[in-house]
Amino acid sequence: MIAYGKQQINQADIDAVVDTLRSDWLTQGPLVERFEQAICDYTRSAHTVAVNSATSALHLACLALGLGKGDRLWTSPNTFVASANCARYCGAEVDFVDIDPHTYNMSTQALAQKLHIAEQQGKLPKIVVPVHFAGHSCDMQAIHALSQQYGFAIIEDASHAIGARYRDEPIGNCRYSDITVFSFHPVKIITTGEGGAATTNDPRLAEHMQRLRSHGITRDEALFAGPGDGDWSYQQIELGFNYRITDIQCALGLSQLKRLDEFVSRRQALAASYDQLLATLPITPPVHADDCYPSWHLYVITVQQGMAQRKRVFDAMRCAGIGVNVHYIPVHTQPYYRRLGFQPNDCPQAMSYYQSCITLPLHPGIDNRQQHDIVNTLQQALQ
Ligand SMILES: *Cc1c(COP(=O)(O)O)cnc(C)c1O
Repeated sequence: MIAYGKQQINQADIDAVVDTLRSDWLTQGPLVERFEQAICDYTRSAHTVAVNSATSALHLACLALGLGKGDRLWTSPNTFVASANCARYCGAEVDFVDIDPHTYNMSTQALAQKLHIAEQQGKLPKIVVPVHFAGHSCDMQAIHALSQQYGFAIIEDASHAIGARYRDEPIGNCRYSDITVFSFHPVKIITTGEGGAATTNDPRLAEHMQRLRSHGITRDEALFAGPGDGDWSYQQIELGFNYRITDIQCALGLSQLKRLDEFVSRRQALAASYDQLLATLPITPPVHADDCYPSWHLYVITVQQGMAQRKRVFDAMRCAGIGVNVHYIPVHTQPYYRRLGFQPNDCPQAMSYYQSCITLPLHPGIDNRQQHDIVNTLQQALQ
């Protein structure tokens, strides 16, 4: 089976991990800070907090921004469930902003309309989470302008988008957001096995996420409630978690980061070649705005005859050993969210996209011959 996404592990990655296993620190050692500094350098953000998953990073980001009971978080329905669940962990309400039918990202127009109505009802969100679907940046300048007008915070879910750029700057520099979150799961652009990170330019948000990553414990006496008992003292000043990433994972992450640009340019080349090979087929290829340089986490096409055709094509390709996939089942249609009262038609664009989308395999390990096989199989399946 040709997988839709897959990690690239080379000897340097293996050596880096093995060296760490032989070192004094398996966790809470020097490689965590080195990995965080390397992400700061790459994304040109002031602070990075590395954690054990993007899901944890989203949770910490929400807590650091003060999300709690009675608050609202809005995100896109065309995402992995984690982009919405982070609000539920904090006891907050979730709502979904429908997608743009061309980019499949959160529609800025739909967001503006929804904000206008929410303001009249006194139900504005505290946080909006735009998701850079497939590694294509959202319209961050416009979303940022709306945040100024309506007073919400922004967490960019850039789980698909490390190595991507927006207006000639790296995603993760937080020029238009409070916090950006990355995932290092093996299907994403670079991997640490499991892992994630939050970047920010606000030192208070960074410090708070660091503390919450490790139980809410501090060794900073300035934050102590009363004097410490001695040099051994630490205090738990709030309720935190164990969301730490290990030095073993960071060794892999540091090694992978060196090849990030190479991975993205290979993905870019494969996407360009898909564009050409598919040009005469009756499908709609992915499009992106001129001001974004995508990381091409996913290459998603839509078929023109809807659900039944999508199922036929999907089954035929899986039968032929091609690991096509579907991204995403709209989050608001998941049974958990249905029980909270959401209806499929709450986001009609996300529904209509979902019924016809297919993700073709795309990762740096795919060669030109495999890509031709994928396209030939697709062509037959469409007939
Ligand atoms: C993968 C993914 C996540 C969750 O990442 P983990 O590191 O697996 O927790 C969150 N949001 C999006 C959009 C993702 O694709």
